Formats: sequence, C-alpha cells, structure tokens
Amino acid sequence: MKEDFYDILGLSKGATAAEIKKAYRKKAIEFHPDKNPGDKTAEEKFKKAAEAYEILSDPDKKARYDQYGHQAFEGGGGFGGGGMNMDDIFSQFGDIFGGGGFGGFGGFGGGGRQRRAKGSNLRIHVKLTLEEIANGVEKRIKVKRKIQASGTTYKTCSTCNGSGQVTRITNTILGRMQTSAPCTACGGSGQIIDHKPAGADAQGLKVVEETVSIKIPAGVEDGMQLKVSGKGNEAPGDGIAGDLLVAIEEQEHAELQREGNNLHYDLYISFSEAALGASREIDTVSGKVRIKIEEGVQSGKILRLRGKGIPSLNGYGKGDLLVHVNVWTPKTLNKEQREFFEKMTKDDHFRPNPDSGEKSFFEKVKDMFS
Ligand SMILES: [Zn+2]
Repeated sequence: MKEDFYDILGLSKGATAAEIKKAYRKKAIEFHPDKNPGDKTAEEKFKKAAEAYEILSDPDKKARYDQYGHQAFEGGGGFGGGGMNMDDIFSQFGDIFGGGGFGGFGGFGGGGRQRRAKGSNLRIHVKLTLEEIANGVEKRIKVKRKIQASGTTYKTCSTCNGSGQVTRITNTILGRMQTSAPCTACGGSGQIIDHKPAGADAQGLKVVEETVSIKIPAGVEDGMQLKVSGKGNEAPGDGIAGDLLVAIEEQEHAELQREGNNLHYDLYISFSEAALGASREIDTVSGKVRIKIEEGVQSGKILRLRGKGIPSLNGYGKGDLLVHVNVWTPKTLNKEQREFFEKMTKDDHFRPNPDSGEKSFFEKVKDMFS
C-alpha cells in the first residue's frame, strides 16, 4: 500500500495550497540530505515528501488524487506521479524557496556531492483530439524560455571556490555539528557572472521564443504529464537546462466516449431498422466504418469492434469500440401509424419473448468487462 500523500506531509484532506507548501517546506528542511548525510531513511522521507508535494501542489493532479487516490497516477508508464529523482526534487525548490536562501539559480543540493545548477522547469498544456490521442501526434509549440545570452561569461565563485557549498559548524546540545549549506554568493552553482551583455538578466539569461517539437505517443490520457528533457529554462554557467513539462488535455469527442482504452458509441436505430436490419456508417478514431445490424436486433445490444479503440500507452494491444444499439421510439404517431401499432400489439408475434437465447442487460455488462 502506497502511503497517503496528506499523511506524508502531516496534513488532513482539505488542506489549503498555502498549508501544503508550508508543510512541504518543513519536511524538505527536516529531511534534506545535506542535514542527514548518509541517512537512507531521511532520504526516503525526503523523496516521499517531494512526490506528495508534486501532486498536491498541482490543482489538476490534486483534484485527481482527491477523487481517485494513487490509482489516478497508475498505468501511465513514466508519466505523472511516478518516482522522482533527486534532480526533479531539487528543481522543485525554485518554486518552494522562491530563490531566497536556496539561491536564485534554480535547484541544486545533494549530500556533499557537487551538483550542477539546473534551470527551472516550464509547464504548458496541450489540447488533443481523441483522433490525435489514438494515432499519436507531433505538436510544434511556441515556448518562451530563458537561455544563456550570448556573450555572457562566468567565473568561479570565490566564496565557495566553485563547490557551491559552504560548511558551517554549529554548537548543539549534542556537540559540534557540521552542516553544509548552499553558497549564497553564487546560489550554489559555484559560478558567478563575469560579464553579461545588455538585455540579459542578473544570471546572464534572456527570454526567447522557441518552437519546440513534442512527440506525443498514442494512448496518452487527460491529466498525464510528458517531460521534454532540457527544454525548460537554461541555467547559468555550465548548469543544465530544466525540463519542459507538458500536461495533456483531452478534448471531448462529439460521438465517442472514452473509458480507459475502450470507446463507446451510442447508435440509434428506428423500430423498422431493428426489425428489418440496417447498414450504418459510424465515426471511429481511424476514420469511418460501415457496420451491419442484423434483423431482429434488440435494443441494448452491444457490438464490439475489436481494436478500434485507443492503443495502450505501453504499445501492447488496443482497446475496442463498443457500439450500443438503442432502438428509437417515436414520441408521437399519426392516425395511420397508431392504427398500425395497435394492430401489432394484438399480434402474438410482437409479444416480448426474451428467453430465446437473449442475454439480460446485466449479463451483457458482465461480458463487457470480462
Ligand atoms: Zn559560491
């Protein structure tokens, strides 16, 4: 059983965004690897808190989590609430510590190891049609990101000699404790600006608009997040660029309803088509398909078109398209039609006789999910 995200942060459900941020700040400081060198339990707690915060700080993800729990993020391959590595966690710190204390150069840290500064992540939303989701698509999207302005040069920080860390000795009741903290002079990057051109910010960066090509695999779902590595903001000096996080938004389809990888289609036919049989063209995610409805079809019958659903994200198999047959009852009748149906009502042949091999509604539902 995965631990509850609210429990991890010591919060109750319904906590506000400010409370979540505050609780995470506390945990991040308490279990920070720099404070707990070599302590695996602390590291585990540090990672868990970061993962909980990643979900609960994002209004969309929080809503999904509140409704579905951990299941909301399962089955998504490498996306969404999957495991976070230390780089991801430290890159979150830009948002949490707001550039104060932990430095304005984005994320860094790590128990004694020197770490290259990482630029902050960028987040965008991409709206996809069901057809694009079914077939996979390449989107070209304009993104405003910070890059190193050409002509910017950096030199080694003299305060920390380029290590990005300063060591402090504190006296505690347990004795002298050595802690290392990020260097405030360089924000932990180990480098400071030597020269920057006009138009560059204090870190030697400038904002540019770039077109980023994003390959979206078939089978993604609303709320999933894809990561385009290195397409976030660049970091100063020899730091590494942050990532571009792409949140998937699924547009509603006029005819088809998605349920996991299966699709549902409501087909309406008339009394006479049900009695005589019919041939109808319906929309699928891979174009139109003609289906044949046998004569004598019952309302509620489900026709399964194998493989006409959404491909699974991991590349194995495809969902089906389930066509639900609904026999449409006219809401008004003229005199002639009324006489016709009154005659039919008296005819024994028109009396319902569902025992002749017909499955009940509940049996059909059971079949559908087996
Ligand atoms: Zn420094």
